[in-house]
Amino acid sequence: MARYTGPVCKLCRREKQKLFLKGQKCFTEKCPLEKKNYPPGQHGLNRRAKISEYGIQLREKQKIKRQYGVLETQFRNYFESANNQKGITGDNLIKMLESRFDNVVYRLGLASSRKSARQLIRHRHVMINDRLVDIPSYILKAGDVIKVRDKSKKLDIIHNSLKRVKDNVYSWLSIDKATLSGTYLQVPERADVPLNANEQLVVELYSK
Ligand code: SF4
Repeated sequence: MARYTGPVCKLCRREKQKLFLKGQKCFTEKCPLEKKNYPPGQHGLNRRAKISEYGIQLREKQKIKRQYGVLETQFRNYFESANNQKGITGDNLIKMLESRFDNVVYRLGLASSRKSARQLIRHRHVMINDRLVDIPSYILKAGDVIKVRDKSKKLDIIHNSLKRVKDNVYSWLSIDKATLSGTYLQVPERADVPLNANEQLVVELYSK
């Protein structure tokens, strides 16, 4: 599956916002955004050009896409699917992205970033309802139980990540650190999702 392989900290600097793409480093002062909170490139610091309405919408889309680690075609497909559902398209879009297997593994704290979560899933370390699923984009349903395989329970990458998270931070997830398992209790409401982005601008962009 295609994926972005370029330097990820530049993506945060481009958006002038932490997108938490590097795991533990994002929570330390080693995060480049702590010192360089301006776009990369020769003119990044002094760039003052007025940004158009289209530019603002585009940046918002890129920000969301990059946080969830989704490429353009797949993101567009999510949008089309969200648009075909009942309810508010922007809310539907975020709910779908939040229901991705890799995102839930990350939110549960089993991985320190969504990228790391994707790796755990592809390497078949995590199961859904006692079944091996190695598809990071798999959409979870309410009640699905995520569990680390017995043979993977000693992985440092999982335990180091879990040290960072407090118990049950999100109302729609429950985690049991002792058994390295968690439940996706329900699809979250948009208002509960800690995502600093305006998905309505994405709807406007794609509706042109
Ligand atoms: Fe973004 Fe994390 Fe890099 Fe900081 S360390 S710039 S938050 S990816």
